[in-house]
Amino acid sequence: MSELRKDPILDHWVIIAAERGQRPNDFAIEKEEQTPSGCPFCSSNEYMTPPEIMAVCSVDRKPDTPGWEVRVVPNKFPALAIEGKVRRSGIGLLNRMTGVGAHEVIIESPEHCADIATMPREHVVNIIDTFIERIVDLRSDHRLRHIVVFRNYGAAAGASLSHPHSQIIALPTVPKLVSDKLTAARNHYLHKERCIFCDLIEQEMALPERVVFQNDHFIVLSVFAARFPFEVNIFPLSHQHDIVLMNHAQKEALADILSQILLRYRDILGGPPYNLIIQTTPNTTPRPGHPEYWRTIEYDYHWHIELMPRLTKTAGFEWGTGFYINPVSPERAAAFLRQDTAEEAEAAVGS
Ligand SMILES: [Zn+2]
Ligand SMILES: [Zn+2]
Repeated sequence: MSELRKDPILDHWVIIAAERGQRPNDFAIEKEEQTPSGCPFCSSNEYMTPPEIMAVCSVDRKPDTPGWEVRVVPNKFPALAIEGKVRRSGIGLLNRMTGVGAHEVIIESPEHCADIATMPREHVVNIIDTFIERIVDLRSDHRLRHIVVFRNYGAAAGASLSHPHSQIIALPTVPKLVSDKLTAARNHYLHKERCIFCDLIEQEMALPERVVFQNDHFIVLSVFAARFPFEVNIFPLSHQHDIVLMNHAQKEALADILSQILLRYRDILGGPPYNLIIQTTPNTTPRPGHPEYWRTIEYDYHWHIELMPRLTKTAGFEWGTGFYINPVSPERAAAFLRQDTAEEAEAAVGS
């Protein structure tokens, strides 16, 4: 079983997943394109994955057979294991926790070459519904404190298979980065009785140089202090603390705006690798000794999606300092991404 270890100085956890190191191709240079015939995520290759957890289907079918539209399976090489108790231990400064959690793969289409940027809206809604269904189910396991849904697109963003897919990792603790964000939101609320994200959205809309576009329910903002060129956040326009609360109209609007921004990445930036992360509330089941911990989360937190193309490499300076050097101003990035094509983008922002 893997193990979580806490950095004794910086207070963040690391997963030591020794089992994953036994993957035959680990640490090798990234492989080239998988062909559909050898791809474990393609329709008719269901036997190549662990037994499915759930699937969205339009036809009657047996589990692990073709006929599905979205399919969820356990990760074959999980970073965390679902069985077992969360045991905390430690001597002095060195704290450990058993690697209990969940690691699942959402296969977003039976088709190898499908792209979320060009999928029909209803299919993207099915994918969003699948994210929500898995989050709700995993939250019912009180050992799991935080669930993160993410998508790595392209080898440089960490995807080892090119077939469209996302992943879910459920953790036995709230990660430091997430808890820093939650704490900042709670502190703002305690001072002002307002949601910091609602405040930010309002301020950005008043001076729309970083607004990429919006629809009835969502807005895409070029991040003010973007770490990466063309990094954007997608926010629901009206206050909502948890992704699972979306209604159908919101899901359709999210599907539209997600496809729209990914199309811009494709058409204007040439389809770079990217990472997409859904940031929503942690498991709000009260923790022993902290009955009041999430008391104001409904009012102070605002779920969102982070999207970052991988156009620059994170290297020594970034790793050593936590500082990022972003060679594209977020205002210029927004001006680019507002256009439909690379030519229009060039013309719009000049040289
Ligand atoms: Zn495939
Ligand atoms: Zn809000």
